[in-house]
Amino acid sequence: MNHAVYGFIAGFRNRQKLASILRASPRDRETHAISPEALKQSGVTVLALDFDGVLAPHGRPEPVAEITEWLANCCTVFGPDRIYILSNKPTRERIDWFNSRFPGMRFISGVRKKPYPDGLDKVIEQAAATPAEVILLDDRLLTGVLATCLAGTRVAYINRPYTDFRNNPVQELFFAALRTVERILIALVPDKK
Ligand SMILES: [Mg+2]
Repeated sequence: MNHAVYGFIAGFRNRQKLASILRASPRDRETHAISPEALKQSGVTVLALDFDGVLAPHGRPEPVAEITEWLANCCTVFGPDRIYILSNKPTRERIDWFNSRFPGMRFISGVRKKPYPDGLDKVIEQAAATPAEVILLDDRLLTGVLATCLAGTRVAYINRPYTDFRNNPVQELFFAALRTVERILIALVPDKK
């Protein structure tokens, strides 16, 4: 099944979980403001990172400068072999960038796209971790965040993603609209009594 169609079906089934994640998420959460030390203290031992929006604006071949610094800090705290890139677009350029800058970090590829939990399941298996030790940072509710509901891992919903409307207006507008629509839909889910 196409991953977007699957997202709507699985999203509907998991609407209550998604709504509570959305409600519990801090406003204006940016990737680089997340403290790796605090994550570690809360019991996280494995980081799974989305790329588009979380490490860089859409379609960029490499993370932005402040994220390169943040990644280095994550490496110190968790070790590079405990950090995975889980993008629906694991392009050659991106993989090459990580191989040269952070050779220990691994791209998860060859799996069905998020929201299928396959990528997170692969992270759990490769890291020999429990789902509760893994956190995914993602800026999309109906792909990444939903995948965490299905795989049982933790999640940090990045609601203030990197964007570059000036250089990539069509793609950025498309994804901004998607993010808004999914936020509105999920915010409409009533609180469980
Ligand atoms: Mg993303």
